[in-house]
Amino acid sequence: MITQPCCNDASCVAACPVNCIHPAPDEPDFGTTDTLYIDPRTCIDCGACTDACPVDAIVPADALTGPDIAYAERSTQFYADRTTEPAWGAPEIPRSLPWGAAAPHVAVVGTGPAACYTAQELLRTTGAEVTLVDRLPVPGGLLRFGVAPDHTSTKRIGESFAALFRHPRLRMYLNVEIGEHLTHAELAAHHHAVVYAVGAAAARPLGIPGEELPGSISATRFVARYNGHPEVPGDAVDPTRSQRAVVIGNGNVALDVARILASPPDRLARTDIADHALNALRGADVREVVVLGRRGPAHAAYTWPELHALKNVPGVRLVVEDHPQVRAAIAGDDERAALLRDVPIEPANQAGPPPPGRRIVLRFFTSPRELVGEDRVRAVRVAQGDTQQQIDAGLVVSAIGYRGTPVAGLPFDDATSTVPNDGGRVTDPATGHPRPGTYVVGWIKRGPSGGIGDNRVCARETVDALVQDAAEGRLPSAVGTARDFDRLIRRRRPKALNH
Ligand code: NAP
Repeated sequence: MITQPCCNDASCVAACPVNCIHPAPDEPDFGTTDTLYIDPRTCIDCGACTDACPVDAIVPADALTGPDIAYAERSTQFYADRTTEPAWGAPEIPRSLPWGAAAPHVAVVGTGPAACYTAQELLRTTGAEVTLVDRLPVPGGLLRFGVAPDHTSTKRIGESFAALFRHPRLRMYLNVEIGEHLTHAELAAHHHAVVYAVGAAAARPLGIPGEELPGSISATRFVARYNGHPEVPGDAVDPTRSQRAVVIGNGNVALDVARILASPPDRLARTDIADHALNALRGADVREVVVLGRRGPAHAAYTWPELHALKNVPGVRLVVEDHPQVRAAIAGDDERAALLRDVPIEPANQAGPPPPGRRIVLRFFTSPRELVGEDRVRAVRVAQGDTQQQIDAGLVVSAIGYRGTPVAGLPFDDATSTVPNDGGRVTDPATGHPRPGTYVVGWIKRGPSGGIGDNRVCARETVDALVQDAAEGRLPSAVGTARDFDRLIRRRRPKALNH
């Protein structure tokens, strides 16, 4: 059975000798399900998938206990409902360079999952020399600074990337920022191709009064802080004595933040959480976290495994705020809304202190209008239908999505906060023509959605375009050598860390 840590990167699909894991990347429903599923009717229990899984998500069905038994039920349901015929896909033969062609030198900017899958694919399918560059002094990107500290299995994918960092054809420069210490032109002059895997580093603003008050923080910063991000100071979250926090948004990041805030600190002490964040949580004593969704349960952006995890946090009750529209949605036909049928529906009194115990309250059809307070946040004014109410809270975390930021030297599309591209080739917005030797991958290519494993398919597309350009002679020539590049970096950035 495939369980919560599943990263959907489909390493297991390629390892399976009997094609029993679906949806496979070449099937129409790939990318539409929360996890992959093993078909018990065809599985031969060989265990090849467990060896291939980078996050240890696959366990024998009879080893499932407690809340994890729900994964077996989901799997049975998946195959009962599935109409797609499981067929063997065409053999996957990655594009390669013609015999005798010179191997390109490729720079990849970033060291998060999109960068690592790109480097892995380049090294696997070509003789390329790969240079990774990251502005931070430690590699990992959102894998290190975005995955919640209690999702320890998910973080295990970092072990396969750590092996990549030791590859003989890969070198890595940390603490070097392109656009600050080196220009795009200088990077491009020393490589045949440059791939930007810089993610979406900024938070989407709420755009409501009071957003700047102490006690209000974006999830981007909040998550970075509990993961020990070197650029987010330990005191970035203004301490609160309020026992209630509000999280705005209904995606997986909102659920991560709510789970961390509501969890008993002793549970978190056994995770990877940064010490300063744990101490602050112990001091704050938040007991109730209200999660605001502006739409209803049918349109919540969270995935089933994350909701399931929220239902099963030891010592924390999950409830849904009572509202006639919410009751109707949960009782109706919609499958997503029906995921809340086993969650108690309770009235929420959100003025004054919360009831005894720890709880997370999911409140739907509720939009934030203003963060209220003079010296710091004291409450959130919200609108639910025609009524306006105030929720007392001393901490407000806005988890309404990430936003890509412009990359120096590249075009940028403000509307989507991405770099304009065609299948990974950066394109000139005026002509639509590709910029030779310049590529994007991950969230800066397709926008801030999808988990870690989605970057594998995304990286394959970008690398395929790059290798095709190399094979057809469309890559510019690199004028500087690897040694010249090393010298340039040492001159410009004496604090660069070289691996
Ligand atoms: P997201 O999935 O795009 O969710 C953003 C949420 O914010 C949506 O519920 C959206 O509601 C809401 N929102 C947007 N603007 C709003 C506003 N002005 N006021 C109130 N609500 C607003 O983004 P995310 O949670 O940052 O996650 C990013 C990606 O990372 C997702 O693909 C997610 O699945 C992935 N991720 C995965 C995991 C995991 O697998 N464990 C963990 C973390 C993140 P509307 O739908 O109404 O716009």
